[in-house]
Amino acid sequence: CGIVGYIGHRDAYPIIIKGLKRLEYRGYDSAGVVLYDGKDLKHSKTKGKVSDLEERVAKEITIDGKIGFGHTRWATHGVPNDVNSHPHFSNSGKLAIVHNGIIENYEPLKQELMKRGYTFKSDTDTEVLINLIEDVQKKDNLKLGKAVQVALNQVVGAYAIVVFDADKPDELVCARLGSPLAIGLGDDEYFVASDASPFIEYTSNAIYLEDEEMAVIRLNKPMKVRKIKDDSLVDPYVQELQM
Ligand code: GLU
Repeated sequence: CGIVGYIGHRDAYPIIIKGLKRLEYRGYDSAGVVLYDGKDLKHSKTKGKVSDLEERVAKEITIDGKIGFGHTRWATHGVPNDVNSHPHFSNSGKLAIVHNGIIENYEPLKQELMKRGYTFKSDTDTEVLINLIEDVQKKDNLKLGKAVQVALNQVVGAYAIVVFDADKPDELVCARLGSPLAIGLGDDEYFVASDASPFIEYTSNAIYLEDEEMAVIRLNKPMKVRKIKDDSLVDPYVQELQM
């Protein structure tokens, strides 16, 4: 299972696909991608290989977009099929997520969200998390980063996540507990991935998120890393990658 994300000035799709192929060694049963084309979210996902995803993308979506992320899934909740593949979306359609890991308390959270009118297309724990984030965001009119943080503090489990909000399209929010997540720092561009192999040819500077840390990545702004639990700012160690 793996994650590759990009925000910057390049076409995101080739970076994402090439990166997902480099993460194939981690094992997976499905693959998917979402891109923001400047107006809308475009996505495609499928059971099978990254090469199957490429075929499907060619038929289903335009691949324009300088922001996006992709995922390879190792199913834990819900069988491997197209619908359960990532990305997943919130009920408004505005929030998108990819997730590696397990949300252990997804069932009570799902019941609560259903009482509040939320519906679910998939059997995944991940779709519960993205709707929890939306619910938190709407209730208190929170920024995406804050909503992700509040939601993650209600979650038991393990995760590496990348989240995008179509209403705030210059920003990616990512977080980690248990599953790895590296952030590549370029010039006015950022990469996110399960390890540094997807972005090693673009930058030699990377930050490895520690457990219980989250990062808000904005274009043309310094990245902020915080502790999910107590909101304290972290001064992350920037590692020099060896080619
Ligand atoms: N628990 C999630 C699912 O089953 C993510 C699995 C993964 O790590 O790929 O969809």
